[in-house]
Amino acid sequence: MDETAVPPEVSGEERRARMLRKRKAIDLMELSFAEDAAAFAATDEYDELGFVSAIDWIRFNCHMTSGGAASSVAVGNSMDRLPRSVEAVAQGEIGLAHVTVMARTAEALKDRFDERPLIEYAREHTPGKFHFYCQHARHAADAEGYAEQEADQVQNRRLSLSNWIDGTMVLSGVLDAFGGAALRAALEPLAHRSGEHDHRQRGQRLADALVELATGGPERAAIQVTSSVETLLGLAGAPAADAEFSLPISSKIIERLACDSNITRVLLDSESAVIDVGRAKRVVSGPARRALNARDGCCRWPGCDRPPSLTAAHHVVHWVRGGTTDLDNLILLCFRHHWMVHEGKWQLVRSDDGRMLAIPPTVRFGTVRPDPPPEPFPDEEVEAPADVGYDSSS
Ligand SMILES: [Zn+2]
Ligand SMILES: [Zn+2]
Repeated sequence: MDETAVPPEVSGEERRARMLRKRKAIDLMELSFAEDAAAFAATDEYDELGFVSAIDWIRFNCHMTSGGAASSVAVGNSMDRLPRSVEAVAQGEIGLAHVTVMARTAEALKDRFDERPLIEYAREHTPGKFHFYCQHARHAADAEGYAEQEADQVQNRRLSLSNWIDGTMVLSGVLDAFGGAALRAALEPLAHRSGEHDHRQRGQRLADALVELATGGPERAAIQVTSSVETLLGLAGAPAADAEFSLPISSKIIERLACDSNITRVLLDSESAVIDVGRAKRVVSGPARRALNARDGCCRWPGCDRPPSLTAAHHVVHWVRGGTTDLDNLILLCFRHHWMVHEGKWQLVRSDDGRMLAIPPTVRFGTVRPDPPPEPFPDEEVEAPADVGYDSSS
């Protein structure tokens, strides 16, 4: 191969310097774009051009998101109030993301806005931290306006739960800042990776956490499930079971729910006569459960540390197949790992030294889906976005 065709290597230092130069040039160009965007938004040209707003025209023709277009207009509108910020971008001291936060703050605070103390902070901190700082500044300057904005957020709250034809539920919604934080505070601890073999993507872990939150805990659930014994035994020809708010569910789910029922269940015999309601004696409670909690301490899946309050007492040999409710036949498993043992077809075996080993299902075609590949990127929390995205627009 002709060596002259290979582009010359740049050193890491050169590349970094080049990136900084490019970023500064891009940011300056963005400021220039923002000025034009604001001037354009001040006209009604968009209307003549058949668009519903200036943001809409920019979004469509400049190939931007509406949030990005709105930010540009906001920055352009506030630019004459941000001389120090513009200068700091030119000096490479802060970036466009800082200016965007600054512009939103200027817009919210109107004549109470003071650029000087903010620019000092912006020079030293990331756009995410700066956003938090500006929120404090907004509250300090206008606590009432800040509270009003929060109240507006609450007004916009909504949650919709709709079912697809296959029974899948689609959630979509908006929570106010505090409501969202409360939800995250509840979900995040449950959405950590749980021990070995956890290749779930973050979205899957959050979804599991939500279900765990809804079904977990000793006294929380009140889903009623109605099943025939044949279904529970997984006999051929058995109908599915019925559950509140759901399409009929399979015997595999029923098997797990019935394993340690924190779900109200109704068992029917072949004549549809009720033979068992609710927490039958197989449910591990009281002293037996306390002994189990003390023995296992947490979920027994290798590497999982979900506390007993978030676990079910799994019958190693299911009680419908004659398994007892003695301590020997029980182990604590969290929601996720209980699912893996029942529906996921994993096996948990005790090694000679008493540790639990998780054995993956061997048959991977047909009913068992392979684990998804690990996420390509680490999913550490990102800082709050600098663009808070409330519309200043047009
Ligand atoms: Zn179980
Ligand atoms: Zn677990």
